[in-house]
Amino acid sequence: MKALSLAIDAHHALTPELREQIVQNVRARLQDPPYRLLSPEHFRTLAMLDTAGHPVVSLYLELTPERRVGRAWQSAFSALTHQVFQTMDEAVRNSVNADLQDIQRALDDQLPELGRGAAFFACRERGIWRQIALPIPLPDRIQIGPRPYLRPLLRCWGRSDRMLVALLSREQSRFFVSHLGTVEEIYRVKGQRIRGMLTDRVPRDRRDALANQLMKDEAKALASMTEVIGRELETSHFLLCAPPDMNAAFRAHLSKESLSRLGMFEANVHASPTEIGAAAAAVQEQLKVREERGLVDQLREASPVAVSTGVQETLDCLSEGRVLTLVADDSYAADGTHCRQCGCLFETTQLSKCPACGETDLEPIDDLVEAALQQALERRAQVVFIRDPARRLALAEKAPLQALLRY
Ligand SMILES: [Zn+2]
Repeated sequence: MKALSLAIDAHHALTPELREQIVQNVRARLQDPPYRLLSPEHFRTLAMLDTAGHPVVSLYLELTPERRVGRAWQSAFSALTHQVFQTMDEAVRNSVNADLQDIQRALDDQLPELGRGAAFFACRERGIWRQIALPIPLPDRIQIGPRPYLRPLLRCWGRSDRMLVALLSREQSRFFVSHLGTVEEIYRVKGQRIRGMLTDRVPRDRRDALANQLMKDEAKALASMTEVIGRELETSHFLLCAPPDMNAAFRAHLSKESLSRLGMFEANVHASPTEIGAAAAAVQEQLKVREERGLVDQLREASPVAVSTGVQETLDCLSEGRVLTLVADDSYAADGTHCRQCGCLFETTQLSKCPACGETDLEPIDDLVEAALQQALERRAQVVFIRDPARRLALAEKAPLQALLRY
């Protein structure tokens, strides 16, 4: 999809109506098929879906370069669907088959240009249809159940994995969202045609002042747009590339909060998303490491009542809804136990009854972290993955799963 574009100039001010339109456009863009990158709100909506029994098909397909050649993805798709039909009764099979045909048709129509794979969530009966481009490769998988199967996606849901990239210039400004190395253009703003406006009727000595004022007005509107889009996409940082005079005027109108999460980089304003991703990569990495370091220090230095620093303690706080930010060592993997009755998660696999509610309706789980991430999502907690090796070691002094608490 092409980036949305608009003009902000002396004839088109950034009014409250235009601002609302930008919000609506960004939202619509994220909902719209074909393939969208995943926004957090989009993700939460998926997590809340429950069809009350109707089967939803969740399908993950890796799209390596080899699989993109011809229709090579098709044999992997057939293998997945074959496997699922073997364990299914007649009625469910018919409904699932219709959904799988829809998915196959969508793949036939178009593979996502971006990313390393695709995920589908479909239930024709309930009008559910989502197709999502995946920024990282996830293993092929198909799952049928009353709720979308989101666990594989949770590993790419870290807060600092999503950043807003703004490229400003007098002729045009462009906004991108960068998610785990995939960069997508979402907005393009045409600048002032200053030369055209400064005719001979404007006295020569007034021209510079007027041009400067126009640039400042534009920088103010762009700063305001940055705040709106960043909030909508829940990005953790801003990456900015701007000529010096616009840069200063733009920064003057950013909130303190945004300024503290700003990084600078250099790129050509006409560059492709891939080139912009490459140009911004180093700064992005620095910002991520800085955030990881900040969080690990915060966990270490906070008052003991404001943090949980043991795995089981963190799981308990999660199910009580007390977690503000869940901090997870990206490489941590462990088995665990889930209580079907009260929803609590346990680090130990040797339980005969639930320590929280006393029921015996327990199930073993093969990935405790994914189960914890799902709870974090449902309870609107933020998630930060610690990926830098030195920070992972520092986190491991206490536990690979910790949290900053709301109360
Ligand atoms: Zn229980």
